[in-house]
Amino acid sequence: MKSAKEREEFGGGKQGVILCPVCKAAYYKKSWHHDIAHFAGKEDMPVNFLLCPADQMIKDKQYEGKVVVKNVSGETEIEVANLIKNIGFSAFEKEPMHRLISIEKVKGELVVLTTENQLAVSMAKKVGEAYKKAKVKISFAKEPNDVAIAVVEF
Ligand SMILES: [Zn+2]
Repeated sequence: MKSAKEREEFGGGKQGVILCPVCKAAYYKKSWHHDIAHFAGKEDMPVNFLLCPADQMIKDKQYEGKVVVKNVSGETEIEVANLIKNIGFSAFEKEPMHRLISIEKVKGELVVLTTENQLAVSMAKKVGEAYKKAKVKISFAKEPNDVAIAVVEF
């Protein structure tokens, strides 16, 4: 398992552009961008098609962040789910590799998976700030990689 840092330095800064066939993110200047439109490289640069780290992670059914929201239902549940989706969307806007993978109701709990551990942490903290009665507990699982697990209990 590669570290987040290694994944971000995808391709070891090799020449050319990498395009993800799934999300159309483009890798150049050592980071991922939403599209290739602003790429001001040489026209003869090679373009390689390769899954980006976020889509690779999703394909492999892996995740780096998990938020579990307990004892939430009705209106509050809808609001919390929308808040989490909005945080996920703005994270993705800023950084194409930071994504909300899924948000599902599992055995009465809202389970949220993200491609990046700090994204899960910030989702949980923002839910905690929005709802005073919600208690937030964050832990990190060392193995197999730095998965953050944030539990929000209403
Ligand atoms: Zn992609």
